[in-house]
Amino acid sequence: MRILRAAAIQESQHGNYYYLNHWCVRFPRIGEKRELKKALESYWKGGSSLEELLTVSTEVEKAAWSLQAKQGVELIGLDGTLYDQVLDTIFYLGLAPPRFQHLSGYEQYFAMARGTKGAEALDMSKFFDTNYHYLVPELAASVTPKPDFSTFIAKVKRGQEVLGKAQAVPMLIGPNTLVGLAKPADAEAPFKRAEAVAALVPAYEAVLKELAGLGVPEVQLHEPILTHSDAASLKADFEATYKALSAVGVLINLVTYYDDIGDAYTWAVDLPVAALSLDFLGVPGSVLGSDTAALIEKHGFPENKRLGAGVVDGRSVWADGESAPNLVAALVGKGVKNISVQSSVSLQHLPYDKDLEQELPAEIVDRLAFAKQKLAEIVAAAKAASGVKAVALTSALPSVGDPKEEVAETLFNRAEVFAKRRGAQIQTVDFPTTSIGSFPQTAELRRARLQFKKGQLSAADYEKVINEYMQYAIREQERIGLDVLVHGEPERTDMVEYFGVKLEGFAFTEAGWVQSYGSRYVRPPIIHGDVVRKGPMTIKEFEYAQSLTKLPVKGMLTGPVTILNWSFPRKDISRRAQAFQLALALRDEVADLEKAGCRVIQVDEPALREGLPLKRARWESYLTWAVRAFRLSTVVAAPGTQIVTHLCYSEFADILHAIDGLDADVLTIENSRSGDEMLRALAKYGYSRDIGAGVYDVHSPVVPTAEFMEGKIQTFLDVNLLKGDRKQLWVNPDCGLKTREWSQVLPSLENMVKAAANARAKK
Ligand code: GLN
Ligand code: ZN
Repeated sequence: MRILRAAAIQESQHGNYYYLNHWCVRFPRIGEKRELKKALESYWKGGSSLEELLTVSTEVEKAAWSLQAKQGVELIGLDGTLYDQVLDTIFYLGLAPPRFQHLSGYEQYFAMARGTKGAEALDMSKFFDTNYHYLVPELAASVTPKPDFSTFIAKVKRGQEVLGKAQAVPMLIGPNTLVGLAKPADAEAPFKRAEAVAALVPAYEAVLKELAGLGVPEVQLHEPILTHSDAASLKADFEATYKALSAVGVLINLVTYYDDIGDAYTWAVDLPVAALSLDFLGVPGSVLGSDTAALIEKHGFPENKRLGAGVVDGRSVWADGESAPNLVAALVGKGVKNISVQSSVSLQHLPYDKDLEQELPAEIVDRLAFAKQKLAEIVAAAKAASGVKAVALTSALPSVGDPKEEVAETLFNRAEVFAKRRGAQIQTVDFPTTSIGSFPQTAELRRARLQFKKGQLSAADYEKVINEYMQYAIREQERIGLDVLVHGEPERTDMVEYFGVKLEGFAFTEAGWVQSYGSRYVRPPIIHGDVVRKGPMTIKEFEYAQSLTKLPVKGMLTGPVTILNWSFPRKDISRRAQAFQLALALRDEVADLEKAGCRVIQVDEPALREGLPLKRARWESYLTWAVRAFRLSTVVAAPGTQIVTHLCYSEFADILHAIDGLDADVLTIENSRSGDEMLRALAKYGYSRDIGAGVYDVHSPVVPTAEFMEGKIQTFLDVNLLKGDRKQLWVNPDCGLKTREWSQVLPSLENMVKAAANARAKK
């Protein structure tokens, strides 16, 4: 009914038949009040039954579906998951690896997610270029699915009950994407992509048949793998898959998102599907955004298909305003006859509802749109488009201001090159020891913070708790015999939030949760204006910690790229411009730390790699500004000040030139669990500045032995890292220790110092 009415309106105004309908690509599935998190965690702890969990999860689903219907969305994707949509697909297809075969049902499902006795969980990996993490399918050389879609079909039936048959649209991850995201179960016996996809197709055919019997209007098959650089090579697989699946007779909406589909566009538009959904927007604030509009401008869009126009930004908390209807109007002007208006990507990446926010200033709230508000924007864009004058498609794209760099070139370079400045920096023994920054966030610390927040603890008393913690941390590090100390970060809960609250231009939500993985949600800060440092951010704690010891204490900052990548950025100016604003603020902090007598300053950039665009062709553009932002924040340091960076667990063998470009004096990375690939890559590259490769895993509660860590140190020499220069080879844990307990941290560091001493003694 609704669809027909919309069609009639459009017909009379344009004298041309097409219709607009609208739906969104997935919705937050965590519940308005994080109901699912609480239910999951209680179930896992044994505090509630499976039935109770499933009751909550069906209520959460139902609320999300009903909300979409109420807001006027016509085709509603039957979203919802207990943990992860990729895991769901693995589960439906019966692709659990052999180590989970003794389990079944939800027991197997959660074992794959979280591990169980004797069976390690599936790997977790970043989902495309988002901050959401999915569980990685493992495929054997010969793929033999044992499909059981009963829980999926039950969900579809629930959806039909809530919404009626005409509006309830089942959604699944498509076979090409599932295989594209998979890793070989055995690296020695990798699966062949085409064979693996072909092995899955019969299972999809069977479930599509079942759905046809249920009278669904269409089925969404999500294939974001088409946005990868090498999508062009997927042509044959896609053609074979969709030839087989379209033969079932149910209408298929092939859904892509996170970027344009690049070179695959010219053949993907000819796939035998009823609708093709495309992302017009890409990453918010990126200057080289999605090319979808340009592709349509150039090649047109076939008349026999519906275009799913992803024009409402599902990645940005900012309202789209005029840009969405303008884009739709431009598509109509371009002659695209059959359009559905939808979100560019899943709304799962946005918080649920901005109306839950009580504290945000009204002038910010007015400009925001969280998932619920995006639904209204989708509906409004479809309605308003008919009244908008059509312009060229590409000029209807929201514009991103990219102010020219007005930063003098000299501000990006240290006064001396590394070879000259190294001698002026702190001098240490061979294999110097240090840690990455944080020490345990103890119960006492958390209690004090909460009491301080509630006004039950005075600022002076809270500061006393922090200072006592630092006294303990410094005393213990001295006792253990570390060479460069840290204050332990007791005053920080989170490495981005801590800086955000001290900078102008950031806003914080109370209920702005988005899923990171499973039941883990984060609340990214929102950059809403120009970023300016209000005053020193870390000096007080540094000065206090340094006053307690003669040994050097590291200054500890989060880098500009990481702060940006873990926040919701602005959309009106480029990511690059925002990174530079952050860099200038941090630059002042680096200068102040130096003035306070700090000789070693660590600037963490664990999210550097995360910002890489999906398309390789756009990597350099990103890396250039990301590296320049880091340099802008750090090169103010005098030659005698040692700049350290920490990159966590990122793989960077393919971006070594950028890592080198950071010009940091010490590079610390996670290494203990890897097979030293990164060290080998660094050695081969001829990386010449100091390296601190992690010698033990901070994620495990196990106290590592000195022998184990000595073995790790030996590998530095074995791979000929820095040609064996022992003064440049640092010994440290993989990462910060905030999730550990003191009872694990102290003996681990003792053993680490022992390992370094043993290595030192061996000449
Ligand atoms: N300095 C931070 C810490 O130790 C670094 C954490 C990170 O890179 N993720 O906690
Ligand atoms: Zn780390």
